[in-house]
Amino acid sequence: MSALILNGKEVAAAVKAEVADAVAGLDFRPGLATVLVGDDPASHSYVRGKRRDAAEVDIESFHYELSGSSSQQEVIDVVERLNADDSVDGILVQLPLPGDLDGEAVVQRIDPSKDVDGLHPFNLGQLVLGRGGLRPCTPSGIMRILDHYNLPISGRRAVVVGRSFLVGRPLALLMSEKGADATVSIAHSRTEDLEVLTQSADILVAATGFPGLITAEHVKPGATVIDVGINRTDEGLVGDVDFESVVEVAGAITPVPGGVGPMTRAMLLANTLSAAMARRV
Ligand code: NAD
Repeated sequence: MSALILNGKEVAAAVKAEVADAVAGLDFRPGLATVLVGDDPASHSYVRGKRRDAAEVDIESFHYELSGSSSQQEVIDVVERLNADDSVDGILVQLPLPGDLDGEAVVQRIDPSKDVDGLHPFNLGQLVLGRGGLRPCTPSGIMRILDHYNLPISGRRAVVVGRSFLVGRPLALLMSEKGADATVSIAHSRTEDLEVLTQSADILVAATGFPGLITAEHVKPGATVIDVGINRTDEGLVGDVDFESVVEVAGAITPVPGGVGPMTRAMLLANTLSAAMARRV
């Protein structure tokens, strides 16, 4: 039996259509500012994609590029200017920053109401407290995919492999909060007997950056498998899940590419709209 393929492109298109509809009904254009530091080709390509997405839903984009030799203060100065600019509803600083620049310290200077990546300590704290706020894009995109396909979470066992503040930990919080109600375990690089743990998962999420870490032996038959990994290899872009073997065991699975990636981008637009509504309506 082959798993249901969870089509992130399709779900992302639905999210984008909702955002575009909502934007069309506003008497102003929400604004998203992107801040790009240095010349890393992957970062440039990510930011290009985000600006293109914004244009598609009629969100205005403001783009700031700084050289890789910029000082911490120069990057912070741009963020402060954007904080003070009323036409900017969302600020995205593309991470990681090059060299010795401290990305976390820069993110802490973003006005939390414009923190559309949901990575400011205020918004992460709101998530821990179960209060409203902007949520990180990848975890909220995963929740949206599960919801779209009516894949049950409540009362189910979820195992999230990876404990980053970007993906693993916020996702574990979203899945276990009241209303979602999964029972969640977080695994990481020091977890012993990973296979035993993952085999208990009704929902298994891999967010490690370790290509092919999750194989059929890790997966409970019928489980939902969410592959967050984006790994550039000689064979092209691959996830953290060995798709060929796992697709035969899982009940549902996200592909790479075309799974979680498009959702992350779509949720950035949804967050920009939410930030704009909260600030201006
Ligand atoms: P990270 O490097 O910050 O964290 C990786 C985590 O994986 C760590 O917590 C580590 O303990 C764990 N880990 C590493 N090796 C492991 C192993 N052998 N067994 C168990 N756990 C292990 O990474 P991140 O920022 O969370 O990103 C993870 C992956 O997701 C990367 O491939 C990244 O490119 C990708 N990513 C994709 C999207 C998307 O939109 N699809 C968004 C963000 C990150």
